[in-house]
Amino acid sequence: MLNSNVIRVFDPWRKGSLCTCPFKYTVNVYTGCGHRCIYCYITSYIRDAFNPRPKKDFIRLVMRDIQKIPASSIIDVSTSSDPYTPPEEKLGLTRKLLGLIMKNFRVKILTKSDLVVRDIDILKRGSSIVSMTITTMDERVAQIIEPYAPSPSKRIKALSMISKYGIPTILRLDPILPFVNDSEKNIRNIIRDASKAGVKHIVSSTYKAKPDSLARIIRSFPDLGEKYRDLYIVKGSRIHGAYYLSKKIRLDLMRKVKEIASDYGLTFATCREGLVSLHDKGTICDGSHLFKAFNR
Ligand code: SF4
Repeated sequence: MLNSNVIRVFDPWRKGSLCTCPFKYTVNVYTGCGHRCIYCYITSYIRDAFNPRPKKDFIRLVMRDIQKIPASSIIDVSTSSDPYTPPEEKLGLTRKLLGLIMKNFRVKILTKSDLVVRDIDILKRGSSIVSMTITTMDERVAQIIEPYAPSPSKRIKALSMISKYGIPTILRLDPILPFVNDSEKNIRNIIRDASKAGVKHIVSSTYKAKPDSLARIIRSFPDLGEKYRDLYIVKGSRIHGAYYLSKKIRLDLMRKVKEIASDYGLTFATCREGLVSLHDKGTICDGSHLFKAFNR
């Protein structure tokens, strides 16, 4: 198996879990991520996680690993760091990776950075999808929760540009944080702007609390400390080492996103919620159905 390599089988939740992703591979160009989102979960398993560093010998290892993967496999770039984390602008390692994998594989980019538009020339040559995370259109809130990521308006512009090249785009409205970005107004603003930018599918998810990310959230929003402890620790449930909101709250939040997505004619699915009944027919939660829908 490929799990000792840089291109790995995407596996984290598959065994009896709430993950509904199809079989696919994932590759992280960097260890750690410089966007420093306060809710980020990688700090629970990556040392010095907010200090992104390129993987040693990365390109050589990619060249070795792609020999072992069946053609047309889906490769997610990336799931444990942003492939367009700040050092990428200078290092160009994600760009080099795309140059190697675009021809034979289906590539799904997951990012929060408008730097992805730099690589449209490569992405448009093969089978690609770009999934952009936007959690708020309020620049002030974004500055607090995603301090080193490009602004939401830059991300929307990037989506618009990518869509114009015929590359399918997805909005990840993830995570939804109670009392921070869960208002109907905020969700509607994001979905409206994403829809105008050509997005076809929405993936959403509620925040799952781990001690390190919860501590950062409470440091940033001290008034939420008691409320979060009550919602997550007292009334929530512990699943796979994280505290989830109660099922009722998660259902209410996800239904709200689904309804607004439907107002704009966009398909909807959830991520790691176990709420498959909310997923629109014909969709795959991570948006990979768009490869087929767009003949890519
Ligand atoms: S962009 Fe993703 S990986 Fe990077 S800090 Fe934010 S949540 Fe973590």
